[in-house]
Amino acid sequence: MVSKLNLLIMGPAGSGKGTQSAKITEDYNVVHLSTGDMFRAAISNQTPVGVQAQSFIDQGLLVPDEITVALVEERLVQSDVKERGFLLDGFPRTINQAEALSTILEKIEMPLNLIIDLKVDEKLLVDRISGRRMCKKCGTIYHITNNPPKVEGICDVDGETLYQRSDDNEEGLKVRLAEYNASTAPIMGYYKDSTDILDVDASLAPDQVFASISSKIESLLND
Ligand code: AMP
Repeated sequence: MVSKLNLLIMGPAGSGKGTQSAKITEDYNVVHLSTGDMFRAAISNQTPVGVQAQSFIDQGLLVPDEITVALVEERLVQSDVKERGFLLDGFPRTINQAEALSTILEKIEMPLNLIIDLKVDEKLLVDRISGRRMCKKCGTIYHITNNPPKVEGICDVDGETLYQRSDDNEEGLKVRLAEYNASTAPIMGYYKDSTDILDVDASLAPDQVFASISSKIESLLND
């Protein structure tokens, strides 16, 4: 039985990390730490990190490890993470980041208790990414045909205008998938002997994907 959920969600762009993270956060009250969201906020506020990260993100490339690790460490040591546990989304993306994360988690005495690995056929991702729209204010994710808002272009939650991420295009997706396969997928080898891994078929509907995830989380909390 675990007392606090310290989770990591992995999967290529379009696999549903953001959608599943929102559901996990809502049901289990963990702190959602998405490095992509943190970078987008930094860019929109034009912070020094945002300025450094922007050109990498626009090209679909990974932001250098030293910038990314510092951003995550600064957030993980905050008290809400200690109180509520965390869900890391989009980090680590390289073996070097995974090693840095192990050091940070040892320091703050919060071992990972589950990795959720979203597996999906790459052919599905182009459609998911090209139709994805997001609310700039609350981050709610939509799809123009699979999960449209009630009013076209407007967020159901807060009425803000939806936008398309600057890296959500076919060219950017190709680069991001190549990065994922080369640098991120090998991370599973790093964790396979030390951490519980849940493989999930992420081509299914979001509620079905979430049912597999929550049944595993319940077993961690209750067994
Ligand atoms: P995401 O929202 O997770 O798809 O991330 C969007 C972009 O932010 C990625 O394509 C990268 O350019 C950058 N990014 C997010 N997380 C990381 C990370 N852990 N390491 C390096 N770059 C990252």
